[in-house]
Amino acid sequence: MKISEQELRTILKKYNLKITPQRLIILNYLISHKTHPTAEMIHSDLKTISLATIYNTLEKLVETGLVVVIDINDDKHHFDYYGNPHYHIINKTTNEIIDADNFNVQPLLDAASKASGLKISGYHIEVYGNKS
Ligand SMILES: [Zn+2]
Repeated sequence: MKISEQELRTILKKYNLKITPQRLIILNYLISHKTHPTAEMIHSDLKTISLATIYNTLEKLVETGLVVVIDINDDKHHFDYYGNPHYHIINKTTNEIIDADNFNVQPLLDAASKASGLKISGYHIEVYGNKS
């Protein structure tokens, strides 16, 4: 997905994030790479930004819910743009992370709200599977 700088700025503003060049670059990277990269993978493509800055920027983006962390068996954090909520199917055999949005989460959110009395503000669902 290609996105303009103006759209990137609008997204950061919507999540109450101050606009910095690093945030624009890293957000753009995550939106255009649906590979669920680690910080190291991002750094190897964006060498002009230090790994420490990438970590700090990701931390800030994760705090707001704009980016989510997915942990799989490889002991690394994988990052994903979450402006369009979806769920993840993780193949435990290969560690592949598959994006999916083919089910209606509303009944689940309604049930969660009913069980907790909370107004549901978001979700992050991971489904695991093995090759049998
Ligand atoms: Zn994803």
